[in-house]
Amino acid sequence: MIKYVPKMTSVVLEEIPDRVSLAVDISNCRGNCVGCHSPFLKLDIGEELTPAVVDALIADNFGVNCFLFLGEGRDPEALLSLAGHIRTAHPVMEIALYSGREDVEPAIWDAFDYVKVGPYRPECGPLNERTTNQRLYYHKEDITFRFWRKGIDPNV
Ligand code: SF4
Repeated sequence: MIKYVPKMTSVVLEEIPDRVSLAVDISNCRGNCVGCHSPFLKLDIGEELTPAVVDALIADNFGVNCFLFLGEGRDPEALLSLAGHIRTAHPVMEIALYSGREDVEPAIWDAFDYVKVGPYRPECGPLNERTTNQRLYYHKEDITFRFWRKGIDPNV
């Protein structure tokens, strides 16, 4: 089961370049970032993110063209199933994952258009700083430089 925090759901413009993203905060984070910005996301909180909920969120946010999972929870099969649902039911949507891990499994690279990897380290800074240890990939191509060029704050 994948859970999200409904009240934190929002439409964002900066987290994924050139996309209007519907961002959902996923709880049960298995990360352990030293500079964690949202420790409560490590807890088993929120509501289940089902395919029906995904459909309703997309319907309620007309114009979004990317579904962004902020975190991946602890149920990889359920996460991949949700990504597969979006791919099938909403083919115009791109799918993005912000993972706090150093790397993700091949199945995740294949299921998501965008994947961000790397735990947040305060001494390295977020994606928009050239010293960052984090990376954002689009179909496995490193596009982290897009944040440096624009100088935007991806709010990690
Ligand atoms: S990925 Fe890291 S910063 Fe994000 S909630 Fe998990 S521990 Fe915190």
